[in-house]
Amino acid sequence: MASTSTTETEQATEESTEPESALETARRQLQHAADHLDIDPNIVERLKHPKSVHEVTVPIERDDGGVDVFTGYRAQHDSVRGPHKGGLRYHPEVTRDECVGLGMWMTWKCAVMDLPFGGAKGGISVNPKELSEREKEQLTRRFTEEIRDVIGPTVDIPAPDMGTDPQTMAWLMDAYSMQEGETIPGVVTGKPPVVGGSKGRDSAPGRSVAIIAREAIDYYDMEIQQTSVGIQGYGSVGANAARLLDEWGANVVALSDVNGGIYDTNGLDTHSIPTHHEEPEAVMTHDAPQTVSNEELLELDVDVLIPAAIGNVLTDGNASAVQADIIVEGANGPTTTTASEIFAERGIPVIPDILANAGGVTVSYFEWLQDINRRAWSLERVNDELETEMLTAWNDVREEFESRDVTWRDAAYIVALSRVAEAHDARGLWP
Ligand code: NAD
Repeated sequence: MASTSTTETEQATEESTEPESALETARRQLQHAADHLDIDPNIVERLKHPKSVHEVTVPIERDDGGVDVFTGYRAQHDSVRGPHKGGLRYHPEVTRDECVGLGMWMTWKCAVMDLPFGGAKGGISVNPKELSEREKEQLTRRFTEEIRDVIGPTVDIPAPDMGTDPQTMAWLMDAYSMQEGETIPGVVTGKPPVVGGSKGRDSAPGRSVAIIAREAIDYYDMEIQQTSVGIQGYGSVGANAARLLDEWGANVVALSDVNGGIYDTNGLDTHSIPTHHEEPEAVMTHDAPQTVSNEELLELDVDVLIPAAIGNVLTDGNASAVQADIIVEGANGPTTTTASEIFAERGIPVIPDILANAGGVTVSYFEWLQDINRRAWSLERVNDELETEMLTAWNDVREEFESRDVTWRDAAYIVALSRVAEAHDARGLWP
């Protein structure tokens, strides 16, 4: 295998820059949670670094006969509670440090959900839009071969992320299985159901966002039927959350995609608005009394705001102008550290991404269980079990929120870090 394993040695800067890198944010949040807990500082120090980072060279033959060489990564953060788990992204801005930071987030996301997994993230620095289908398949198969020794159903289980999809996971599973000499569906999740994927996996992150928003609405003594909701991003997360909240009686008044948003104080019919996957970027084609920019949407007078598109949209530049009573993070990392501080000062609860959108990794866990047992679950069972897992995690985080004077984000990190640190404490440090 042509990979090199390295151990993270550099220190993250702790100055407040806006926006921070994923790794800076991950380390800051870890330290912040640790400050609330009585845990061995040596364990915290260990958790600031990944277990290993694999960097590989991925050459492919282009359709014109030339050869291009790309760099791929797999950062494995922590496996004290079980195999590594995390997405694989194809994007020009993928870097080693980004994979390390996002892998750390996955450790907390799995731990807050009490899943028997640790965190990882990987990717290839490539623009997938510039690759033909054949080139993408070749890239995926070659990358799989390069990381084959460090992944597997009991070692590290990739999943789709930006620029990758169920088809990518099917190629990865096939390339891995061909070399192992048997079909091993549990090596990846987010596969098409026909090769061991789970029903309900696609809609799970949006479903969990809706469940957590519903619980938060109830917690703050609001009636869902009298609650207005604004959602930025109408893709897998935003659209599934919007439609469920709409079905449960909430008034979804604002929606957007990359081109801008629509606003109707009487409520939008979410089911008649095509999602990003049904018809890309079609939100603005829907008739509505008002259009708004993505920036304006974030500052609308709504009860619940769900940023579900991209990271770093709630910043020190707009946090003071946000009028929502509750923010539920659908996207990963939509709120910068400074914005989080402003919301805390203003008393606006922010329910964090690692809890709210964790339905994706939770149903990935269900998929892994189904693969290992060679038994497919019904959609009803997947959704019922997801509901149970989300309510358990919500209650665990709520207990910390109520018993300490902390934000929801701190409470979620405290739950996650306690679980990971306790496991490290019990297992000890190998000499
Ligand atoms: P998606 O590609 O399905 O949809 C993204 C949506 O956001 C589209 O409507 C797009 O038009 C819009 N958008 C893109 N750029 C925008 C911009 N600059 N301003 C406003 N809108 C913009 O993506 P998704 O899978 O729904 O993911 C959305 C977010 O949720 C990402 O942060 C992702 O990391 C996170 N997330 C996704 C999953 C998952 O499994 N899909 C799981 C957890 C977290």
